[in-house]
Amino acid sequence: MSIEGLRALVADFLAGHDPRTTDRLEFLRARYDAGLAWVAYPQGHGGRGLPQAMQPEVDRLFAEAGAPDNRPGTNGIGLGMAAPTILSYGTEEQKDRFLRPLWTGEEIWCQLFSEPGAGSDLANVSTRAVRDGDGWVVNGQKVWTSGAHNARYAILVARTDPDQPKHFGLTYFLCDMTDPGVDVRPLRQITGEAEFNEVFLTDVRIPDSQRLGAEGEGWKVANATLNNERVSIGRSAERESGMIGVVARTWREHPEKRTSELHDRLLRLWAEAEVFRMTGARLRQKLAQGQPGPEGSAMKLAFARIAQQLSGLELEILGEDGLRYESDRGWSMVRPETVDFTGRDAGYRYLRAKGNSIEGGTSEILRNVVAERVLGLPGEHRVDKTLPWKEIPR
Ligand SMILES: Cc1cc2nc3c(=O)[nH]c(=O)nc-3n(C[C@H](O)[C@H](O)[C@H](O)COP(=O)(O)OP(=O)(O)OC[C@H]3O[C@@H](n4cnc5c(N)ncnc54)[C@H](O)[C@@H]3O)c2cc1C
Repeated sequence: MSIEGLRALVADFLAGHDPRTTDRLEFLRARYDAGLAWVAYPQGHGGRGLPQAMQPEVDRLFAEAGAPDNRPGTNGIGLGMAAPTILSYGTEEQKDRFLRPLWTGEEIWCQLFSEPGAGSDLANVSTRAVRDGDGWVVNGQKVWTSGAHNARYAILVARTDPDQPKHFGLTYFLCDMTDPGVDVRPLRQITGEAEFNEVFLTDVRIPDSQRLGAEGEGWKVANATLNNERVSIGRSAERESGMIGVVARTWREHPEKRTSELHDRLLRLWAEAEVFRMTGARLRQKLAQGQPGPEGSAMKLAFARIAQQLSGLELEILGEDGLRYESDRGWSMVRPETVDFTGRDAGYRYLRAKGNSIEGGTSEILRNVVAERVLGLPGEHRVDKTLPWKEIPR
């Protein structure tokens, strides 16, 4: 389909669904059913199998018409990670059940991967899922679970066979966060807010129909999720959007704070941010509709470095003003629905950006991924790859 054809479809849809008079959810559900939600997804699942590059134009046309959006900031894990994994590994029933309410934002998702003993070494997870009739019973503890307090469902990696080496005894599930065995407790961050949680799972029941992928294939499925996560973190489409836009604006608004040294640093970072943006656009074009590979790790690595340098530079430009918090939310225990780098204070941005080199894989781990899987350098020494998981000393 040509871009003109797609524009005509959007115009037809808007003629039949006036955004000013149609109920928000009704509008979003109808947009999904019309295949105009995520256009690269297949027919019947909110899309039309079109190139991903056509999505911004569709979003622009809906925004111009004053249409409600699906509040993507509140469901980043659902849209960026759970959805592409369900699309790749889900049965038709799972796609029918989960993708529509995920896209409309009726069901928010979180990611139950990390544990106290398994972060960088994710394959070491010890949360156990044991077969019980036509389902599974899950026990364990997860940690750093962003948005678990708002989530209806979670993507979950659990150990189903401790006799296998660590990468082979894992299975991937879609977990109902309203199960009585799920206990979500806030963890307060350096920003003062509690955007993430620790989650205790006690005899949580998951029907086998909510297993994603084959039993024992959890590592493969989890890698699809992680690769999507790394590509979706730090995605910025337009020049001077995101962190560089905010810092450039601060610079323009405060001529009295300028020095030639700060100017030099800002220009260097501006150029790096632009190279990063264009490299990201090229990578996404190359990926088209396929699953992202390890190259996304390099993007995530660069994003974390630039975000931290920019947020630090902004504080230096602002001087002591940059250390002040907004009065109503200053270092207060808030349970945010979204992570907002651009609409908040410089002080918040500086502190929150510290997490960028940890979340979605630390920068050290991503350097290993790039070295081994992109550059083909010799692998890190790993002594526990072939041992049965239960025999690994811990
Ligand atoms: C803001 C934020 C949000 C998050 N949200 C989620 C979420 O929603 N769901 C979820 O499951 N997880 C989430 N995480 C967790 C995140 O994925 C982990 O923190 C991360 O993978 C690191 O694991 P860890 O904290 O256990 O650190 P560790 O793995 O213990 O690492 C400690 C340090 O050792 C280094 N290190 C470890 N192994 C190696 C190695 N082989 N080579 C070199 N250096 C190494 C690391 O780089 C790090 O500096 C979030 C984290 C943050 C900060």
